Amino acid sequence: MDKLSVIIIGGGLSGLSAAVELCARGHRTLVLEQHRHSGGRTYSFIDAATGDSIDNGQHLMMGCYHATRRYMRIIGTEYLTLLQPSLRIEFLHPSKSSLRLACPPLQAPLHLLGGLMRFKGIPLKNRLEMLRVAKQLFYTSLSKEQELDKLNVEEWLIKLGQSDLSRKFLWDVITIGALNNHPKNVSALMLFRVLRTAFLGKREHSSLLLPRAGLSDVLVNPAVEFIRRNGGEVLLGTEVSKVHFEDEKIVSVLTQDGKKIRAQVFLSAVPWFGFERLLSNSGISSELTVKTPSREPYDPDRFKASSIISIHLWLDRTILDEEFAALIDTRVQWIFNKSSKAMNPLSHIAVKKQRTEEKIPQHLSLVISGAQEFIEMSKEELLTIAMKDLQRVLPKAKNANIVHSVVIKEKRATFSPSPGLEAIRPLPETTFSNLFLAGDWTNTGFPATIEGAVLSGKKAAELICEFKTSH
Ligand SMILES: Cc1cc2nc3c(=O)[nH]c(=O)nc-3n(C[C@H](O)[C@H](O)[C@H](O)COP(=O)(O)OP(=O)(O)OC[C@H]3O[C@@H](n4cnc5c(N)ncnc54)[C@H](O)[C@@H]3O)c2cc1C
Repeated sequence: MDKLSVIIIGGGLSGLSAAVELCARGHRTLVLEQHRHSGGRTYSFIDAATGDSIDNGQHLMMGCYHATRRYMRIIGTEYLTLLQPSLRIEFLHPSKSSLRLACPPLQAPLHLLGGLMRFKGIPLKNRLEMLRVAKQLFYTSLSKEQELDKLNVEEWLIKLGQSDLSRKFLWDVITIGALNNHPKNVSALMLFRVLRTAFLGKREHSSLLLPRAGLSDVLVNPAVEFIRRNGGEVLLGTEVSKVHFEDEKIVSVLTQDGKKIRAQVFLSAVPWFGFERLLSNSGISSELTVKTPSREPYDPDRFKASSIISIHLWLDRTILDEEFAALIDTRVQWIFNKSSKAMNPLSHIAVKKQRTEEKIPQHLSLVISGAQEFIEMSKEELLTIAMKDLQRVLPKAKNANIVHSVVIKEKRATFSPSPGLEAIRPLPETTFSNLFLAGDWTNTGFPATIEGAVLSGKKAAELICEFKTSH
């Protein structure tokens, strides 16, 4: 097989995943990343004040993240994750105590049925009505998927007789967590696919897969090392400003600092807005370049961003004993106990090495997804919201004081999978024979996730390997 020279624009997970696959097969691969760090929207850094490793936002994975787990096995980091034996989520609510979805160790999907039946704290009537959604998951077809993509999640759940309570205590938590927007704004098809992928395979597919170290240690830096060890290169601080084309083929890229780099094949692994900018700088129309899985033409304006805010709090006392919990009837939706040894044992080693002063009792990471209405708030306003929410659901928070805090706003954390968008999410091939596309926004079948990004990179790499230079 001929070894190709490949340029990958973008060093996020989709670009790194493609580069890992290509380097493993001996192709000469160069990743160009505009920032001084790889990982894109998935990275961690050391907080100067505490010496703790913190993520740009807590990321949750699932047992059904097959491409991601394979990627971690290749780069040697799967041991840095913790897979629940069976799905278990603690819920914190201002007035209800002991709410827990804990699936018993039965075969899928019986484990889900068992979990729903044991979901005490909400009336049996509501738990039985949740089974109607479960029943829907057993059958799919093209026409069913097309019908689902016309509905938003709220409409679908109401059609399936889900009461306000069932939606609030279960489906909304899953929807906002997985699709990063409110049920009114996102396609029922996306939730249907997430639930099918998680609950219809093996039991472990629906288990949560937690990173036990900083995201850069689990998903990013070891990939860069793998690429370099296998003959590839990742150039940081290198923004691609244009691509040049001749006779329906891309021939080179131009970097911001004026370097022209030629290759045989090019992969764009940047988000939709970056791709749009790159093509318009190059005098190319994205509508004429992108291929969609339907008859509908590509339209970049239909992609809208959704935000995530992460609030890291270091408190003067321990207020949360669980490793993580979902919050209900609050603005904060998830809380992660970063001081828990089970969840983040390696950060403890890092802390011990780097910090000389007294250890702060508890480090929590709080998440607000679908956070458009909070994104312009000041750090102080967000900290007030965070402490008020904690005090509503955790009695011990009443006397807690903030020792240190970091707030990270990711305005364009993900695209929002609105109804109808599936029809125009780009295929990996384009109308240029040697230009391919990857990224969580492309036609992966998943919402904007680590799994979508890694899978898209793998698929694009497979197509590149089939590329004939005679094209
Ligand atoms: C706060 C937060 C929380 C999240 N939580 C979860 C979660 O719990 N579970 C989950 O599965 N997913 C989660 N996600 C989503 C997940 O992080 C993304 O889907 C994934 O990282 C996207 O990877 P990507 O490669 O498609 O894009 P990106 O990560 O955006 O990578 C694109 C890269 O291209 C670079 N680039 C852009 N333009 C150029 C150019 N012209 N030249 C050179 N480089 C360029 C960018 O700098 C970037 O590094 C979360 C995201 C955020 C922000």
